[in-house]
Amino acid sequence: MTAPKHIAIIGGGTAGWMTANLLRHRWARLGIDVTLIESAEIGTVGVGEGSTPYLRRFFATLGLAERDWMPACDATYKCGIRFPGWSRVAGYESYVHPFFNEADRELGNQFFTNACLRRRGQAADANPQDFFLAAELARQRRAPLYAGEGPGTDYAYHFDAGRLGAFLRGHALGLGVRHIVDTVARVERHEGGDIAAVQLKGGTRIAAELFVDCSGFKGLLINETLGQAFLPYRDNLFNDRAIAIPTALVEGEDLPSETVSTALRHGWAWQIPLTTRYGNGYVYSSDFIGDDEAERELRAHLGAAAEGASARRLRMRVGRADKHWSRNCVAVGLSQGFIEPLEATALMLIQFSVEGFIDALEGNGFEPGRRDAYNRRVNEMFEGVRDYVVAHYQLNTRSDTDYWRANRANRHISDRLASLLDVWDGGGDFEAELERHGSALMYLRPSWYALLAGMGRFPAELRPAPQSVTASQARARLHQMARAFSSHRSQLMGG
Ligand SMILES: Cc1cc2nc3c(=O)[nH]c(=O)nc-3n(C[C@H](O)[C@H](O)[C@H](O)COP(=O)(O)OP(=O)(O)OC[C@H]3O[C@@H](n4cnc5c(N)ncnc54)[C@H](O)[C@@H]3O)c2cc1C
Repeated sequence: MTAPKHIAIIGGGTAGWMTANLLRHRWARLGIDVTLIESAEIGTVGVGEGSTPYLRRFFATLGLAERDWMPACDATYKCGIRFPGWSRVAGYESYVHPFFNEADRELGNQFFTNACLRRRGQAADANPQDFFLAAELARQRRAPLYAGEGPGTDYAYHFDAGRLGAFLRGHALGLGVRHIVDTVARVERHEGGDIAAVQLKGGTRIAAELFVDCSGFKGLLINETLGQAFLPYRDNLFNDRAIAIPTALVEGEDLPSETVSTALRHGWAWQIPLTTRYGNGYVYSSDFIGDDEAERELRAHLGAAAEGASARRLRMRVGRADKHWSRNCVAVGLSQGFIEPLEATALMLIQFSVEGFIDALEGNGFEPGRRDAYNRRVNEMFEGVRDYVVAHYQLNTRSDTDYWRANRANRHISDRLASLLDVWDGGGDFEAELERHGSALMYLRPSWYALLAGMGRFPAELRPAPQSVTASQARARLHQMARAFSSHRSQLMGG
């Protein structure tokens, strides 16, 4: 097969526009045309305000600097995610999943040592929020940009989903992507089964050699047309609903530089700071709480700030496609699958899926022979993220509702996750266990330590530890280091 002449993307949400940018950026030189079709009748999901650090690479690939896109998207910096209320263990009621920095070498390693001492029964301090620079920057509401000499810091972003979509659309159009606003009414197939064209309601017929399904949860091409199975994660992850309520920033207050994900009675609530407002929402399970009650609970959690603010209710299809690339169609975004947004991984999976697809197809001279390997790798990524998210629920130590008890008692977890927990609990060689699973884990050593230690997964009975760095010693050092960083508000908004 030679390179396709024309690729059609169905869907103009974040997935569609990220895909359009990456495909056109990489393949314009080969003369490949890209058309994106989106419906004016079917909206985008309109949420998704947090990223992982990999989004930095996405913008770098496109040659876009932060000053080019951040102001247009009300974007802020993200040092990590804080998790209050997931654990009831004294001293571990709140912890941080930080982005690991070069500057963390010394204290970060001390944290790993302390966590190992503690899981083997010695009373060393091991809450990650006391040992990582990102946690201190967030505590002091500073931006993670280091102006001086020395190692840089890693970080991610928060942004307004609608504005990010509009920005990416503008950039894609600048790269020569053709944009059609119309609804796909019918999909035509070749005799052999490949997709030949889409018929739009307005009467236009768009033919292409390759189709990208970015149609959202319904999976218009991958599920409805090609009949690929959707494999739900329902047994592993109970949450299937969300409610979003924006609130105003507090005037004069410093701008937070972290996501806060607070455990509520039947799920968890996100709070994401943008330069113009907070994005808030409650992710919960309809098996345990009704929508009205969930909205009341979220409003109570947000307090006066939510008075008069309107709520959006969303349903989530959690799981993944059996095959993401089938025939001449690849599914990207919510159509290929979704893992609830606890670790804000959806855009990262979109990026990895498209980058992997480009490499697989181009690297094979545009022969689709690498389809199986691609599908295996994307499935592995989904399963890796899923296991890390499931671990949060397994490790919770709340007993106030059936929801939390059922999550903790859930035995539908992968063998890999079960084995990680066994080795941690049993005092075995956790490093070797992480190594054994390698890149399939998706989350690296600092993240697993931050989660397991941060939830206070340690023996109840502890004996005094030999010499170890205490939380207050570490905090004093971090406090000093953080002074080289400017306030988050002044970095983004001046003044
Ligand atoms: C509650 C919640 C919180 C989230 N939080 C995060 C987060 O913090 N971080 C993160 O990375 N992700 C998050 N996500 C996921 C993120 O929102 C999505 O992955 C991302 O927005 C991509 O969505 P999409 O483009 O695949 O689908 P959508 O936004 O649903 O877009 C679908 C597109 O398909 C088009 N379409 C559908 N049918 C047709 C048709 N017949 N003809 C033409 N066009 C059609 C629609 O018009 C639309 O343009 C969250 C999701 C939810 C539900």
